[in-house]
Amino acid sequence: MGQIFDVAVIGAGPGGYIAAIRAAQLGFRVVCADRRRNKNGAPTLGGTCLNVGCIPSKALLQSSEHVHMLLNEFADHGITFKAPQFDAVRMIARKNEIVTGLTRGIAGLFKKNRIESVSGSARLAGKQGDNWRVDVFDAGVVKSFEARHVIIATGSSPRSLPGLKIDNVTILDNEGALSESILTPTDPPKRLGIIGAGVIGLELGSVWKRLMSEVTILEALPTFLPNADQQIAREAFRSLTGDTGMKIELGALVKDVAVKEGVVKIAYEVKGEARSLEVDKLIVAVGRGPNTEGLGAREAGLKLDQRGFIEVDDECRTNLPGVWAIGDVVRGPMLAHKASEEGVAVAERIAGQKPRVNLDTIPFIVYTNPELAWVGKTEEQLKADGVDYKKGASSFAYNGRALTMAAAKGFVKILADAKTDRILGVHIFGPMASELIAEAVVAMEFKASAEDLALIVHAHPSLSEVTHEAALAVDKRALHA
Ligand code: FAD
Ligand code: NAD
Repeated sequence: MGQIFDVAVIGAGPGGYIAAIRAAQLGFRVVCADRRRNKNGAPTLGGTCLNVGCIPSKALLQSSEHVHMLLNEFADHGITFKAPQFDAVRMIARKNEIVTGLTRGIAGLFKKNRIESVSGSARLAGKQGDNWRVDVFDAGVVKSFEARHVIIATGSSPRSLPGLKIDNVTILDNEGALSESILTPTDPPKRLGIIGAGVIGLELGSVWKRLMSEVTILEALPTFLPNADQQIAREAFRSLTGDTGMKIELGALVKDVAVKEGVVKIAYEVKGEARSLEVDKLIVAVGRGPNTEGLGAREAGLKLDQRGFIEVDDECRTNLPGVWAIGDVVRGPMLAHKASEEGVAVAERIAGQKPRVNLDTIPFIVYTNPELAWVGKTEEQLKADGVDYKKGASSFAYNGRALTMAAAKGFVKILADAKTDRILGVHIFGPMASELIAEAVVAMEFKASAEDLALIVHAHPSLSEVTHEAALAVDKRALHA
């Protein structure tokens, strides 16, 4: 018989580690297993997000943004440097330091909350009376423990194209694209190809474009960012392919990828026309799939949906009593904040509370420059649903704060119900959209009307005044239009 806990969490990403902490706060004895190791072979907590996802990409986006400003914007402020230089190796080292600090922080939180942290690959090994048994395999050693509740938070892994092997030397996934592997040998690649113009393709494309790589993105779909409101998607496409200078080919069907003497040759088709691309490194960013292999899902009778995600109800219950699943391994957007909120909610449900995660007010952000951020319905969705809506928009071009920041690009658009004025969606393309969207999320959670936002005093000068103006514009009374 293994050691007995109240809650066993599998996976220590933003879903699992948060679930473990909340369960411990609620008085449960908690064990959390994760198989991830860092490049030095040491166990590391924080999952995809902290190790090879959200945080590393934002660290490099920040460093590369500074380079962009140094080379293109500082002179306008009267600041010049003789022979400015950047060091991509140092940027990656800085990123690694941030990752190490944050992942150690989680280990500290586990200790503080008396969570048993186990390194290894966990498997659901059937029931032992009222408890589930979980086996954790690590370097030939198996540790078993039991728990009344199991929370599966095993996350996701990058997909590739059929027959295309990611070696993280020349053909890279997100992990390689955020590490020294992308350098040649210490500089950014001269020519960088990316398959997939989704969030990873655009964010990592932005990083390496700002660091002087020639970036070409091949996207299979004819529509750019099909899940975003198409007005902000069009504006972003113009900006990324114009000012930013990335090449994005829509409707590009990849036919063949071959590596010869360190050069990647990609054969593809656009509208039936054969084209080709040669690059020094290729990032594959065509989406991610759920991690269920090795989990013992089939043997335990755990139901997966057609796409391989663990099937759950609105409260993250699987078909097995006492087994819950959260985050990237279940339906819904693959976002760290969604995973964490589900983790909190499941721990509280196990404690008999009645929390609720509102998937309709999850914010989406793309950290390009300018950023895209949105919450709620797009115009396309409202039209498809036959909802009668009104809209108001305001541009950053007239905003004093944006002008002083040299970032007066983009706009805020608010969609509201035509009759009730309730806000149905907010879409931002502009500076600090990632921060501005929080006000919209709060407004929507509180079921605010556009007029409510218009009545709230917004500080001057601030970027949030554009949201205020957009709210006024819904009622056709914008002051700076
Ligand atoms: P994960 O973070 O994937 O964690 C799951 C953990 O479980 C992993 O450590 C895995 O090794 C472990 N595991 C898997 N199977 C087992 C097993 N059988 N036994 C033991 N351990 C196991 N989201 C955002 O919200 N904002 C962003 O800016 C953002 N940027 C991103 C950038 C990149 C490049 C990538 C790749 C992703 C980004 N994401 C972002 C998405 C975000 O990382 C995920 O949505 C989030 O990490 C999901 O959390 P999770 O806990 O469900 O899974
Ligand atoms: P994605 O789903 O965002 O984009 C994948 C893109 O690849 C799509 O546009 C798709 O049409 C395209 N594609 C698929 N097959 C293709 C093919 N054969 N040829 C060309 N294009 C093809 O996935 P991603 O960019 O890999 O990111 C994975 C997940 O990580 C996303 O779901 C996202 O939620 C999350 N993420 C979030 C953030 C953020 O919140 N800022 C950042 C990065 C990643």
